[in-house]
Amino acid sequence: MSEVERIKCLIIGSGPAGYTAAIYAARADMQPVMYQGMQPGGQLTTTNEVENFPGYPDGVTGPEMMIQLEQQAKRFDTDVRFGFITKVDFSGDVHKCWADDGKEIHADTVIISTGASAKYLGLESEQFYLSNGGGVSACAVCDGFFYRGQETVIVGAGDSACEEAHYLSKLCTKVTMLVRRDEFRASKIMEERVKNTPNIEILYNTEAEEVLGDGQVVEGVRAKNNKTGEEMVIPCTGFFVAIGHKPNTDIFKDYINLDETGYIKYEKPGTSLTNVPGVFVAGDAADKTYRQAVTAAGTGCMAALDAERFLSAKGH
Ligand code: NDP
Repeated sequence: MSEVERIKCLIIGSGPAGYTAAIYAARADMQPVMYQGMQPGGQLTTTNEVENFPGYPDGVTGPEMMIQLEQQAKRFDTDVRFGFITKVDFSGDVHKCWADDGKEIHADTVIISTGASAKYLGLESEQFYLSNGGGVSACAVCDGFFYRGQETVIVGAGDSACEEAHYLSKLCTKVTMLVRRDEFRASKIMEERVKNTPNIEILYNTEAEEVLGDGQVVEGVRAKNNKTGEEMVIPCTGFFVAIGHKPNTDIFKDYINLDETGYIKYEKPGTSLTNVPGVFVAGDAADKTYRQAVTAAGTGCMAALDAERFLSAKGH
């Protein structure tokens, strides 16, 4: 039989939301245990310079900021564990969670801060070059630097794709944007900015079919116009995908109310409450609008305060 551990507060995920929740929960003497998840530090560990987090007048790198947040959480004795939660059972008063090391945890409160992950097209060639590190990326700000003075292709037509295409246009000689419909999804202002950038070429009704390369690095993209059937090869060394994010909420779906795209629904707007008493949410797992480190941190604070109030009301 697996070992059962009884705790007051479990925090699942280690981005700015999770660490901020940990700092507040630990200082309220809830002795939080944090499972860091598949990507310790979360999405910010793949970000280069963070210039918009208040309190860093000279900016800070994403990984550096996450190390500092971890140190701050540990300073108040958060039990930070390398590993992830594989299964939950939120059907009873005590919230049961299982970790990848086989440990069974019974928690009075749970704070979900599992974040979101970038979506990819799912092409075999895309995944091949992504895992071999040779020219596929879902983060222009993280990886654009490697393609300075080169040609890149970006897929997507939302605000993210526009923002990333514009970012790349400042580094690259040419950026080709593949838009699968005949219109953008992005806000008008972002769309106009892209359209007014001379070295961005927009190909409408066009979808990537294969990422081409020499087996090591990307050399181009084979694409097709889905209206005319015309095929083309676009030379490039970097292939960027900006087609949205998927919240990491699959393990909660049997218990927690999610919206149609998988984001956790707040039970009560302006709080961190989910539909399960004692289970709270913070950060991008419930936020498809703002998705900023500072907003994630803010909701992490809210979740810890809500969890503390929940425990107090139960007489803990
Ligand atoms: P969105 O869901 O808004 O857009 C995704 C884009 O990718 C759409 O154009 C969609 O096409 C396209 N797409 C999806 N799947 C595929 C596919 N398989 N092949 C080709 N294209 C595909 O995601 P974003 O990440 O852009 O934005 C998410 C949210 O974040 C939005 O609310 C946005 O406003 C916000 N945001 C705001 C920013 C800002 O204000 N500065 C910056 C970045 C994001 P289609 O339109 O055909 O469905």
